[in-house]
Amino acid sequence: MSRLELRGVTRHYGPVAALGGVDLTVPSGSLTAVLGPSGCGKTTLLRCVAGFERIGAGEITVDGRMIAGPAAHTPPQRRQIVIVPQEGALFPHLSVRDNVAYGLSRAERRRGRIDEALSLVGLAGYGERMPHQMSGGQQQRVAVARALAPRPSLILLDEPFSALDSGLRAELRHDVRAALRADGATGILVTHDQGEALSTADRIAVMREGVIVQDDSPTGVYHRPADAWVAAFVGDAIVLPAQAGTGHRGDPATVRTALGPVTVADLPAGHGPLTVLVRPEQVKITTPPAPQAVIATVIGDDFHGHDALVTLELPDGTHVTARIPAPTGPMTTGTRVGVQVEGGGRAWRDQHGTG
Ligand code: ADP
Ligand code: MG
Repeated sequence: MSRLELRGVTRHYGPVAALGGVDLTVPSGSLTAVLGPSGCGKTTLLRCVAGFERIGAGEITVDGRMIAGPAAHTPPQRRQIVIVPQEGALFPHLSVRDNVAYGLSRAERRRGRIDEALSLVGLAGYGERMPHQMSGGQQQRVAVARALAPRPSLILLDEPFSALDSGLRAELRHDVRAALRADGATGILVTHDQGEALSTADRIAVMREGVIVQDDSPTGVYHRPADAWVAAFVGDAIVLPAQAGTGHRGDPATVRTALGPVTVADLPAGHGPLTVLVRPEQVKITTPPAPQAVIATVIGDDFHGHDALVTLELPDGTHVTARIPAPTGPMTTGTRVGVQVEGGGRAWRDQHGTG
């Protein structure tokens, strides 16, 4: 178990600020996802924590011990931190057992740590195979077993599942999470997949252009995103201009939008235009239209089995998507329906959060 802290960490490549002052706390024993688009600095962040890159400014501590700072740089082999890279992590000429044994002391090998690590990832009995005799997903499991075997205080996973198909991905991340829990390890999972982050991690650090823009629980980033960009990055978002006012419900925290009145719990202070976020699952459709509803026209319907995404044109010409659970049949294009927003939205003043 280890608590990791980064304060104001920078890393430049020539003129490029790959890390522009990263603040991040990874609680001991947690799995924290670093979620951000390609090129935002996720790999650089992991490499700085592991010690393969030197930081410019700021500091990195583990349990309060400084491992990187203004005058400190603990070499990677003395940090007790391991990285599982995206792919190609195994030695092809070594058996699975020998791959996992790499980095273990003779005493640990004798104590059965190799078999233990292999069973943690569901690969008991596979020790004698060679990497090329295993599937891609099994090879990734071996890489994780090898990383977990020496009981590192911290394990860093750099998009370890991105080469796998979705079924295998879900299974493997479930196993990896269970293995980390069983071992009490602290982990960082880097991903650009919001579904993976939301379903796997205890905390999510959303990263954009070299900085962490929100560090929160999965429900926090989904329901209380820091700005409109985070809202759209962690899920499907409907972002609409809004006017503050008493609205139809006579509630001071109700704003007016093209989708009708939306209740916001945290109306920002000040004057001027607002931007409001609601999620597609909050848009309720009524046929025939309910009396208070905004009238919209169906212009598309994507059926997904468990739900459908219905695209609607609002009276002002705006297009929005509603997520309808368990639809019994398709909605005909051109149908006029009623739409209303259920549950609370999130509001920002326009100078924030719309970029
Ligand atoms: P991510 O893992 O989120 O895709 P990276 O950390 O790999 O992002 O890269 C962040 C930025 O730093 C990118 O603009 C990338 O081009 C740049 N970068 C990364 N590594 C190097 C390097 N060794 N030399 C020069 N630029 C680099
Ligand atoms: Mg990367």
